[in-house]
Amino acid sequence: MAFGRDSAPRRKPGTKRDHGCKAVGLHMVSFIDAHCHLQDERIRGDLRSLMAHAKDKGVCRLVCCGSGQDDWESVAAIKEQYPSQIIPSFGLHPWYIKDRSPKWLESLEGFLKRLPSGVGEIGLDHGLKDFDEQDQREVFLAQLALARTYHRPVSIHCRRAWDVLLDVLTDFGPLDAGGVIHSYSGSAEMIPALQAYHLYFSFSCSITRSGHARGRRALQAVPRDRLLIETDSPDIPPAGSTGLNEPSHLFLVAQTVSEVLGVNLEDIAALTTANATALFGSLA
Ligand SMILES: [Zn+2]
Repeated sequence: MAFGRDSAPRRKPGTKRDHGCKAVGLHMVSFIDAHCHLQDERIRGDLRSLMAHAKDKGVCRLVCCGSGQDDWESVAAIKEQYPSQIIPSFGLHPWYIKDRSPKWLESLEGFLKRLPSGVGEIGLDHGLKDFDEQDQREVFLAQLALARTYHRPVSIHCRRAWDVLLDVLTDFGPLDAGGVIHSYSGSAEMIPALQAYHLYFSFSCSITRSGHARGRRALQAVPRDRLLIETDSPDIPPAGSTGLNEPSHLFLVAQTVSEVLGVNLEDIAALTTANATALFGSLA
């Protein structure tokens, strides 16, 4: 995939694409959940009903991210079960790097060869109680390199490690097939520097909390052609909910984005769907 601002398939906001998905009460708008974990054992058993709820709310495609060697096979099985809805991604999350086996990278490469898929969830987390900075960086870099070899988009987790992320990207260079920083929690000011590495910025249900001023400022600073929305299900439930999150809640993120940006919901749906298709569409 040639990457760049001008190479993305663009659709005029408001124009419709048929995903075979009818959104009740949402005037046929359709969404792509740019980041979730349907393989998570807390929700895996309810997959059929979660997918039905999601479809009812217009969520027609979902990027399902693995996070460790234990769950990659489950992500592949969900892709097999829902071939046209699921975009699979495989990666070793910084929370689970201590559990990796000596052959983890070989195993990850096997999944990338087996299925058109992204690389993620990968990243850096300096919010952990105890972590090995060098090890996190090496595991992250190895996966960025694999994404470059196979020309796959990456899904990045970054928490309290923004300077390190920029440092790694400065050494590594732009991501050939692009990438997304999921549930973006960085500053508005950092967006242009990250954008230069072909990154998109995805907003989760945390944006639905009215006190989340930093997130809303960042949302306003994201270029429209780099904006994505996600649920990170089953984590980060929307405002007012303390239970497990699910992809049907994506429309709540879209509604908040619509209010904060002053853009109507149909246009937010069309814009974020076009952006997610530009980033992940080659994996369809
Ligand atoms: Zn995640």
